[in-house]
Amino acid sequence: MPPSQAAERGGGAMTDDFVLTTCPYCGCGCNFYLAVVNGNIVDVAPCFTDRISQGKLCIKGRRAHEFIDNEHRLTKPLVRKNGQLKETSWDEALDFIAKGLSDIKSARLSSPKSDKADFFLRHKPGTDVAWLNGFMNIIINQNLHDEAFIKERTEGFEDLAKIVANYTPQKVEQITGIPAEQLTQAASAYARADSAMILYAMGITQHSTGTDNVKSIANLAMLTGNVGKAHSGVNPLRGQNNVQGACDMGALPNVYSGYQKVSDPETRQKFERAWGTSLPEKPGLTVVEMMNAAVPGTPYGEQGLLRALYIMGENPMLSDPDINHVRRALEKLELLVVQDIFPTETAELADVVLPGASFAEKEGTFTNTDRTVLRVRKAIEPVGNSLADWRIICNLAQRLDGNGFVYDSAEQIMSEIARATPSYGGISYQRLDEGQTLAWPCPTTDSPGTTFLHEGKFARGPGRFHSIEYIPTAEETDEQFPLILTTGRTMFHYHTGTMTRRIALLNYEVPTGYMEINPADAGRLQIANDEKVDVSSRRGHIEIPAKVTERVPKGTVFIPFHFAECAANMLTSAISS
Ligand code: SF4
Repeated sequence: MPPSQAAERGGGAMTDDFVLTTCPYCGCGCNFYLAVVNGNIVDVAPCFTDRISQGKLCIKGRRAHEFIDNEHRLTKPLVRKNGQLKETSWDEALDFIAKGLSDIKSARLSSPKSDKADFFLRHKPGTDVAWLNGFMNIIINQNLHDEAFIKERTEGFEDLAKIVANYTPQKVEQITGIPAEQLTQAASAYARADSAMILYAMGITQHSTGTDNVKSIANLAMLTGNVGKAHSGVNPLRGQNNVQGACDMGALPNVYSGYQKVSDPETRQKFERAWGTSLPEKPGLTVVEMMNAAVPGTPYGEQGLLRALYIMGENPMLSDPDINHVRRALEKLELLVVQDIFPTETAELADVVLPGASFAEKEGTFTNTDRTVLRVRKAIEPVGNSLADWRIICNLAQRLDGNGFVYDSAEQIMSEIARATPSYGGISYQRLDEGQTLAWPCPTTDSPGTTFLHEGKFARGPGRFHSIEYIPTAEETDEQFPLILTTGRTMFHYHTGTMTRRIALLNYEVPTGYMEINPADAGRLQIANDEKVDVSSRRGHIEIPAKVTERVPKGTVFIPFHFAECAANMLTSAISS
């Protein structure tokens, strides 16, 4: 048993030297040890028995302890008075929020993976449906589709076949820029593999045709029978450590935990009974809809639908598309509460800022990209007056007369999750602390969890093929805006840089943002490497150093979105499908 688990059982993490926990950054969910000396974390030590990292951490994880005691940590609640955020007590901050909410209520991303690929098909951004339809055209014409799987487990194949028949390799080459021969070779290799796995990143979903893109990928996997068996399927890569877990817990507008639908009366009644309250019949708003709902003149805006917003551990003033629009929305709110570990660009606009505890200062779980539930363990006490997120939420809920919200520990909350959520029904701290690897669905305490989904049948019955035509991107290039912008990450920074930009080595490696541009475009525009350039879109403008590189194709530029001083999302569009 690792020393950290011994400490956890005894409840004495503070006295131990090494605490096994989960990385606070990406969705891989690597485990490592936090080395603790005299109540301070002094290092990260790799865990060589960890199934995921096998002791090999990336540079962010290896330095993950370095932001924890940074001088800029939020250590006390802040409330805006006379236009300034001022330090205050927890009581005053929570009373302020509770009153504000009560008053309102009473009034009513690129993938670096190409290096390892046998085929690297570089398509024009926004043309995913076209090349996916092209893949399926080739597979059907070469008779490589899985007829038995299609017959036994799917519906809608004939309609799909009619649509993709139009997407010949030559037509797809015209739309996407992928040479027909390369497309044909790659499609054939995918279909001939005994099992083939599709991994996709944010460039697929965060696009105006994102929903169509995902449905087309599912079409391709079903067409070749690459669903419901080991080493296959459709696998979205999670950029953040607990995106999967947050979605699993119902941090979506239309579902409760475990994707139980808000619109289903029986499900709603189940949660009403469990929580002793009444719940809304209609789903809420997505993030993009919320930002629109706060601004008059945009959908929902005329009704003044959104008047208060409580943001936890997110920084939409850097991470959301069209930052000027986000600023307008946040400034219109009657009450903006931000809960975070550092002062962020979003916190600068808040009425109240609440200091949360970092990953090293609280108990909990993260659920990684392959649905494995991983323990997060407390290694040190929260800095200053900061508190674990669940404690803050409970303290506020009690001021709002919320039923329940009385817990002694994060473990008690996990037990409630298991009771209310069939797919998490057999997951407990005890089993995780015994070292069991549990991926959901894990419905009972003797279930070993589920390595891959959809074995034997889909939850809805037959898998439905969606017949999808390629629709050109919502915004095309023209004479005034001749280049396509894609945004994404660098391996040295995480999300909006709130944590990683406070780590010296990572800042040394990548100190600020940059725009990658192809040498052909740079030559035409007379841009030199490292030269600072003005970049404008239909929504905004930034200044940023140029990096002239073949990494991006002609006609496309790439800007990482981590950097406030040259924020890529000043330029992007919030249009969604
Ligand atoms: Fe592992 Fe991701 Fe953390 Fe790097 S950032 S150590 S890959 S979990």
